[in-house]
Order: sequence, then C-alpha cells, then structure tokens
Amino acid sequence: MTDTAVAPSGAASADVPGFGHFIAGECVESVSGETFESRNPADTRDVVGRFQQGTAADVAMAVRAAELAAPRWRSTPAPKRGEILYRFGALMAEHKERLARAMTREMGKVLAEARGDVQEAIDIAFLMAGEGRRMFGDTTPSELPDKWAMSVRQPIGVAGIITPWNFPMAIPCWKMMPALVAGNTVVFKPASDTPHCAVLLVELMVEAGFPPGTVNLVTGRGEDVGDAIVDSPDVSVLSFTGSSATGKGIAERAARRLKRLSLELGGKNAAVVLADADLELAADGIVWSAFATTGQRCTACSRVVVDRRVADELLARLESRTRRLRLGSGLDETVDVGPLINARAAERVEGYVDIGRSEGELVLGGHRAGEGDLSNGHFFRPTIFRDVAPLDRIAQEEIFGPLLSVIPVDGYEAAVTAVNQVRYGLSAAIFTRDVNAAFRAMRDFETGIVYVNAGTTGAETHLPFGGWKETGNGHREAGRAALDTYTEWKSIYVDFSGRVQRAQIDNQSAG
Ligand code: NAP
Repeated sequence: MTDTAVAPSGAASADVPGFGHFIAGECVESVSGETFESRNPADTRDVVGRFQQGTAADVAMAVRAAELAAPRWRSTPAPKRGEILYRFGALMAEHKERLARAMTREMGKVLAEARGDVQEAIDIAFLMAGEGRRMFGDTTPSELPDKWAMSVRQPIGVAGIITPWNFPMAIPCWKMMPALVAGNTVVFKPASDTPHCAVLLVELMVEAGFPPGTVNLVTGRGEDVGDAIVDSPDVSVLSFTGSSATGKGIAERAARRLKRLSLELGGKNAAVVLADADLELAADGIVWSAFATTGQRCTACSRVVVDRRVADELLARLESRTRRLRLGSGLDETVDVGPLINARAAERVEGYVDIGRSEGELVLGGHRAGEGDLSNGHFFRPTIFRDVAPLDRIAQEEIFGPLLSVIPVDGYEAAVTAVNQVRYGLSAAIFTRDVNAAFRAMRDFETGIVYVNAGTTGAETHLPFGGWKETGNGHREAGRAALDTYTEWKSIYVDFSGRVQRAQIDNQSAG
C-alpha cells in the first residue's frame, strides 16, 4: 500500500517522489499548492521527497474527517481496535529494516539506533493492542446496600498529535497508539524535517486496517499546521513533544479552550559518578548516552557530575572513548555518530561551544567536521568541556547536540544539588557501588526517570515516560499512564434497591 505518494503537478521530478497529506482515507494535495523538500542531513544533495506545505484549511478538512470517523471508531469494541494496532505492529516488524533505512536517510541517526526507534514503535503498538482487552477501571463496593459502583475510561474525541524529528517513528506511535486504542481519532502533524517517516507509518496504518478518517496526516510548518491543530475548537486533546519554548506557547493557547494537553519538552540530563563507581562502566554508559543520536535525544546526557577525587581518571576514559567514535552517514554500519538534523542545529551547537570556552576548558571537539564525505552533511565533532560549574550556561541550557560538560563536585550531597539545580527534570543516572547511595539517588533526583549504573537513556515502553518541572506538564507517555491523556473517566452508580438511597446521609448514624 503506497498510495499516500502523489506527484503534485510540478512538485516532483522523475527521481524525487512527491507525497500527499492523508485525509479521510485519501491522498490529497494541499490547498496551498505548495510543497517543501526533505533532505538527508548526512548529504544534503540527497532529496528524500517533496511534501505538502499544509494550511489551516487542510487541517480543517482533516479535523472534519476525524470527527466523521469518530462515532464508528469509538463504537468499535476496544479489543477489535486493539487487533488493528496489533496488525500495525506486526507490519512494522515485517518492514523494520526498510523503515529503519528510510529513517536514517531522512533523520541521520545510525542504523542500529534507527532500528531501535522502529522497535520502540512496534513495542508500543503491541503494548497498546493489549490495552484493548484491559483498559481497566475500578469496580468497587458502594457505601449503600444493593448498589454497585464502577469507573470506565471513555475516548475524548479528536486527538491532535504534534511530534519532533528526533524519534520520528517511536514518538508518533507513543502518542497515536494509546489515543487510537482508547477510541479517539487522530490528526497527526510530524516535524518538517521528517515527513517521510510519517508517511511510511501512515501507509502501514492504512494497510493494518484503520478505517478512513481514523488517522489523518497533515504535513507542513508548525506555525501553520501546528497552530491550526492547537486552535481548532474540534480538537479536544493535544499531545506535543518538542522544545519548551514551543510547548509553552501551545499551553497558553490550549488553556483558552480548556483542552486536555500533554507536553513532553526539554531536558538537561545528568549522570552522577561517585568516587566508588566502576569508572569503566560509567565511561561506557556516559559516552553512549551523550553522543548516541548525536546528542539529540531528550534524555541525552549533557552533564557529568563527578566526585572530584575521580574526575581526572573518568575524564581520561571519556576522552579516549570519544576520540574513537567514527562520524559519517548512519547508513554505514561502521559509523558511530551521524549528523545533526540541520544547519540551524549546527549553528546552535557552535554558539554553545563559544559560550563554553569562557566557562570551562575545551578538552575535545568543539567544531564542525567538514572533511571529505562529511562536507556535504551537518556533522559536528563530539565535544567535551571540563571544569564546568553547575550554574554555567552550558550546564543549564538544553543544547541538543554532542556537547558534554564535566562538573566536578565534592561528594553525594553536592552532586544531588547540581543534578536538581536546573529547570528541567527528565532523566538522571548514578554510578556507584554503594547501595545506600543508589537508593538515596532514587529518592532525591527530581526527574521522571532514574537510572542506576546505566546512562541516562534507554526507556522501555511499558513504564511511564516523562519529566518533572519544565520538562512537561505532569502527563506521562507510555505504560498504562499514557491512557490518562486520551481518556475521560466516567464513574457509574447502579442502584438496584428499588428505593431512593441518599449517599453520605442514609447510611450514617445520627451522632
Ligand atoms: P520544536 O521546534 O518545538 O518542534 C516540535 C514540533 O512542533 C514540530 O512538529 C514543529 O513543526 C512543531 N511546531 C513548531 N512550532 C509550532 C507552533 N507554533 N505550534 C504548533 N506546533 C509547532 O522542537 P524540535 O526542535 O523539533 O525538537 C527538539 C526538542 O524536543 C528538544 O527540546 C527536545 O528535548 C524535545 N524532545 C522532548 C522529548 C520528551 O519526551 N521530553 C522527546 C523528544 C524531544 P516544524 O517541524 O514544522 O517546525
């Protein structure tokens, strides 16, 4: 099934495929008549495809389609909805390699990680397929005789899904799978850097059997398509993952209509290394979580908070491992680190290197990699600064690139203070052999995710995912917690006594 590919007139050349929106089961062009390109960040001469530059009018059509599809979808029994999710998961598994290669080409992460991204999408599809047969509520005793009390989850309506480029298959599935199994219909706007990944997902969703209008895809700019979804009076629940700045703007507008809104925003994740830690393990874990996906994971490790007594030993290990990382196209299986997503990202990281020079000492990297084949992509050398202070800008602000700050401190208490002294709270790690220190960290870190003797990345789909403070607004993705975003609770009381029974009154003694 590949009928989301269209060639709008004049928009696609023989070797550059064109793709439509997907609305009400049909592949359609934007009313704007305009398209945009998606290019390979490892070689910007490679054009992945041309995509529709969506407008508010396109969004209105997609929302209408989702509304029309809603009654049938919400009345489809949840286990049957789950079966379609299951088929979708199985199709992704069948096409895993093709999806992963397409992702690496469009987004840049190395193939092994792209396969992991697809696997996360498969995992959440299967997990949520199972929710079709669970979606438990409570059945409880009533305080009154001959009366029964229970609670059930019900769908909210049309869900607006707005996603970033860094996990271009996993994140859309983390949102769409719980929304759909719960009986909502969807309008999906992917990041403009990764529209092809979105098209590939939607093609497989159609093949899996989601009825027309249940899932609608509109590509285009955040300020056009994204804004229109957020402002639509007929979109009742929004789920957004992206930067804190964009998320705050969305929160303000959504609040005016009292919309349900789940936000997953920035991070500034720290790994603590205590003096008793296994330094080999710590160095391996930190290098993986700092430089995988070129530092562009929301959970990427960007701060190492290390006990001063072992700072030099740890730094030597970090440096030698980082020097060995090979940069290049992620399609080459021998490459460790792919490109940044676009030129703007490279400029931003460069800007932070300039700031870092006046804050810490540059140990490694600090510049773009432009030699040979790398000259056609947005490559940046993995970068380490040492002797950074906890409140320095490079230790406080999200950089979203391959830049790691090493922050020496004196002991556990100072480490915890440094970890928590940021406005974000997504993920934190501790390396130690002291079980008491590990348990203290599990209690003390102000983050939604804590790792012990592992880096700051590696969430699994059956546990809640999300962060404290400015990382979000209290909602969680993944696990059963994800259903809370996409459902309303309904409490139901059934009185079979045949008389009026007054709660809190009839069963109370007088005094
Ligand atoms: P972004 O610029 O905020 O964009 C995210 C999405 O929002 C894109 O689809 C974008 O569309 C859209 N958008 C932009 N402006 C909008 C507006 N005014 N109204 C509605 N939608 C709008 O973020 P990004 O640079 O793609 O992603 C990186 C950020 O995501 C980082 O801060 C990272 O920490 C965060 N992130 C967080 C998590 C988490 O779970 N906490 C996970 C992954 C990433 P366009 O692409 O068309 O601009």
